Amino acid sequence: MKTRRNVLLNPGPATTTDTVKMAQIVPDICPREKEFADILVKMQRDLVEIVHGSHDAYSTVFFCGSGTICMDVCLNSLLPEGKKILVINNGAYSARAAEMCEHYGLSYIDAQFPLDTELDVSAVERILAADKDIYVVYSTHNETGTGLLNPVREIGALAHKYNCISVVDTISTYALLPINMDEDNIDFCMSSAQKGLMSMSGLSFIVGKTEIIEASKNFPVRSYYCNLYRQYAHFKNHGEMHFTPPVQTVYATAQAIREYFDEGEIKKFERHIGVHEEIRRGLLRLGFKEVVKREWQAGLIAAAVYPDDENWDFGKIHDYCYERGFTIYPGKIAGKGTFRLCSLGAIDVADIKNFFVVFEQALAHCNVSTPVKYNNR
Ligand SMILES: *Cc1c(COP(=O)(O)O)cnc(C)c1O
Repeated sequence: MKTRRNVLLNPGPATTTDTVKMAQIVPDICPREKEFADILVKMQRDLVEIVHGSHDAYSTVFFCGSGTICMDVCLNSLLPEGKKILVINNGAYSARAAEMCEHYGLSYIDAQFPLDTELDVSAVERILAADKDIYVVYSTHNETGTGLLNPVREIGALAHKYNCISVVDTISTYALLPINMDEDNIDFCMSSAQKGLMSMSGLSFIVGKTEIIEASKNFPVRSYYCNLYRQYAHFKNHGEMHFTPPVQTVYATAQAIREYFDEGEIKKFERHIGVHEEIRRGLLRLGFKEVVKREWQAGLIAAAVYPDDENWDFGKIHDYCYERGFTIYPGKIAGKGTFRLCSLGAIDVADIKNFFVVFEQALAHCNVSTPVKYNNR
């Protein structure tokens, strides 16, 4: 069976290989069977290894849902009574975390920072030094809305200096940028199968310090379905997920992880960075401005500002590209017209060269002049 190959430049789900797509086609199986549970047990270990954690110190906990479910679980499950969460808020995804704290009625500090500038780590330290009730320091590794990279190693070191835990949304960096739990001072990280792993959506996971997960047994339970300890303990005691897992996505993800190890951490990282560099070259050639300076970017997402051209129509340009197999994506910055080109999936430099041929045709088709123009602002 052959399916058409689309090049997805949106921030996940990403382009997958045919072998990952086809891995979903398996005989029907009840996920309570040992044969299926064994796949999950192996996957738990593999997911700890991808972030170089030791099996004695870290555990993987699965959830059935998109990446956001892991943010929800970490925030609602890791806060002891009487303590606070510090949300380092410098983008759309960390703003979502602050919103979650609000919805759960958690005690939290919404520490807002500019979304297009490198984080002021000393300001984070001042907040930590001034408030002894903070227990969870929450940050976002790569703010996928802008491509801004946060210095999680420094944030984690500060968290530990002030006896806090470091929880990092690594959803758009896991299996993309090399991550090392201990060296990067991360106690909890998370992701979803459809992002860096290049699998299907529906399976998300948290990798975290087992000792802290065990301790969280005594923290307030704020959700029945989305509680970290409950899900962890059920798997540990019964060898299976508490509720129905996304069976086909699990098969696809097992295949995707095999392909991850075959490609290799560094080679894969270099491929994504190479794709990103090619995207930036194309944008630069056409005169587009980026939101974040190169030295502050994670190197996976290019967010470009809409040009000041009366013929610029993102919807039309999107449709032109989409009909030709390329998906581009709007930005996520309030009050500013931006679009994004991401380098997450099973794509390479040749795909980006082909994309820019089509993208330039789209601009010409819409009578947008190139190089694109900006009024002085
Ligand atoms: C994709 C992403 C999420 C989760 O999005 P879902 O649509 O729920 O999968 C969360 N944080 C970051 C940084 C992301 O890139």
